[in-house]
Amino acid sequence: MDIAQHIKELKASLPEGVTLVAVSKFHPVEALQEAYGAGQRIFGESRAQELVAKAKVMPSDVEWHFIGPLQSNKVKDIAPFIHLIHSIDSLKLLQEVEKQAAKHERILRVLLEIHVAKEDTKHGFTPDECRALVQQLPDLPHVRICGIMGMATLTDDETQIAREFHTLHALFEELKSTAFQGSNDFSILSMGMSHDYPLAIREGSNMVRVGTYIFGEREY
Ligand SMILES: *Cc1c(COP(=O)(O)O)cnc(C)c1O
Repeated sequence: MDIAQHIKELKASLPEGVTLVAVSKFHPVEALQEAYGAGQRIFGESRAQELVAKAKVMPSDVEWHFIGPLQSNKVKDIAPFIHLIHSIDSLKLLQEVEKQAAKHERILRVLLEIHVAKEDTKHGFTPDECRALVQQLPDLPHVRICGIMGMATLTDDETQIAREFHTLHALFEELKSTAFQGSNDFSILSMGMSHDYPLAIREGSNMVRVGTYIFGEREY
């Protein structure tokens, strides 16, 4: 398993304008360092404790992205340095992000997670819940909503995956031209993982979150 080689191949294959988040959850710091050595600076983690521990030892120019389910009581741990939270799935969480961001005098960048997959285990707002949320968003001066994130159903049915990504893209465009009209910040459509990122890119993704393809299978 040559992590550096995989990073280079992947980067070379991504169209311009598509950002690679290297999902390093459950992998040791040595693996991240190898990816860093190959030029990777954006890493995604799904547990606050693990992210904080890795951030302490990795170089300070790494951009840390939080991609997993986030408990409100963990926001304070990542608020001082997190670059982007992909997984906002409730108004309550958004309000906690606002509170912690204010405390640290930062503006925190977030994505709204949208549930389009068939599995109930996945998180996020339905498209309608998302529309309702953004229409009545309270004043959150320390939060910047930069786009949406979603996952397709884990299936071999490419038609279904494409349809779900298409739904996400359509919602992204809709929000951009309505609730977030005139905002340059609302620009990120985060979709696509190891097994479906080429399809996600074809359906308009501009940020892919790839773990297994780079680092190999995770040991939980
Ligand atoms: C783990 C994870 C990924 C990466 O998945 P791979 O299949 O290993 O590429 C992407 N996004 C989210 C939200 C994840 O939890």
